[in-house]
This record gives sequence, C-alpha cells and structure tokens, in this order.
Amino acid sequence: MVNNKRVAVISDIHANLAALKVIIADIKAHQIKRVWCLGDIVGYGPQPNECIEELRKLPLISVAGNHDLGIINRLDLTCFNQPGQIAIEWQRQRLSVNSVNFLKSLAPKEHPVPEVIMVHASLRDPAWEYIYSAKLAADNIERLAAKICFFGHTHLPIIYWKENGSELKTIILPVNEEYALTGNSRWLINPGSVGQPRDNNPKAGYIIFDLKKMTLENRRLDYPIPETRELIREFGLPSYLGERLVVGK
Ligand code: ZN
Repeated sequence: MVNNKRVAVISDIHANLAALKVIIADIKAHQIKRVWCLGDIVGYGPQPNECIEELRKLPLISVAGNHDLGIINRLDLTCFNQPGQIAIEWQRQRLSVNSVNFLKSLAPKEHPVPEVIMVHASLRDPAWEYIYSAKLAADNIERLAAKICFFGHTHLPIIYWKENGSELKTIILPVNEEYALTGNSRWLINPGSVGQPRDNNPKAGYIIFDLKKMTLENRRLDYPIPETRELIREFGLPSYLGERLVVGK
C-alpha cells in the first residue's frame, strides 16, 4: 500500500528547471502526493516561468521567498546582492501574467497540518532573516507554537531541535539516509536547495518527510548542471550564477 503520509519538502528552486525536473521525477518515483515549497521559486536562474508552470502541476502548498517578493515589487531590490538584483530585473521583464499572479498568491507562512509551520526564512522574519547560527535558531524555536517549522533561505540542509529545558541541538542532515525525529522536541528543519545548493555539494536537494513515522530523508540528486549554466551564459546573466552551481556554493 502506498504511504500517503509522506510529503516532499522543497525550497530555493531559483529558476533552475533542469534541477527541478530531476527532483519532480524523484518525487513521482516515490509516489508522493503532497509537495510543500518554502519559496524562492524565482531569482538567480534562467527559467522562472517554466519552473512555476512545473510547480503548478503539483499538489502544492507554497510560501513566498524574498526573491519571489522582490520580483513582484513587494521587497526592495537594494536588499539583494548585485548578481541577484540583475537576475531579478532580467526575470521581471520576462515573467508571464500567470507567473506574476501565482507569485502574488503566495503567503509568507503556511500551516499545512496542525504540527507544521512553513516559512521561507524564519518565524521572526518570514522573508529575510538568515538562520545561520545556533543563537538565531534558538530565538526562533522559542517562537515555535507547532512541533515543526520548515524553513529555507540559507540553502543548507540542517536541522535544529530543542526539548523543553534542555540545550539546542543541531545536525547537518546525512545524505540519502533516513533520519528519525525522536523525543518530545520542537524542530527547525531546512531541506536544502533544489536549484542552488550551497553546502559544497552541487547535487539538487530536497527532503522526504514522513508525517506518520516522523522521519526525514535528505535526497541529493545529480542533474545536468551544464544545461542551466549554458542558459545563464546564453541569456547574458552574470556568469558567477552559473559557476557557483558547479561547486555548490
Ligand atoms: Zn534562496
């Protein structure tokens, strides 16, 4: 019998269609019927409309990321680094009406099931704060009313957890292995990035989350990086945006 309690948690696609296609094929191969997206669907990469079209075919719940908000003028572009600004301005010229409407429909937070909250960046600041340290993770876990918060934004597959009265703990998720969420803790979980991994591993990443077994699997998959890098070059986007895909930084 197919386990329908599994969810694919994806984030930071960044208009990288070649990566997204490989992830979607993996999700389908696992017969997973629910997809939760933590935002940054657009920005940086060459194929924003194509990525949005692929996502819209899925049983999807998504929040908005800072790039998704920047492109529809809900966030000031001066907040972004130079290559990021250039890519957003380039994509904005090419975004279809359907894509704009889709991005406008995304909320900063979602509550897909009672035990889970989804944000792009952090609970305190859903669009912008980077949870890069244990201190910032601890501050955010204090605000977590549910059992689990999925977040993206840093492009790093990492989890933080805390049981009442004890110290915060953290682990970089092992690759392609099942990891059990045990004990009565509250969890911050980052599935890494589909389209621009930054943990020195260029493979596209996402998480399979099993709500019944309370397990995670950090999936990392090869995808045709040269395809995306070549489009970035062909469209005259900053070459750095292609080079970083090769090294996963
Ligand atoms: Zn991002």
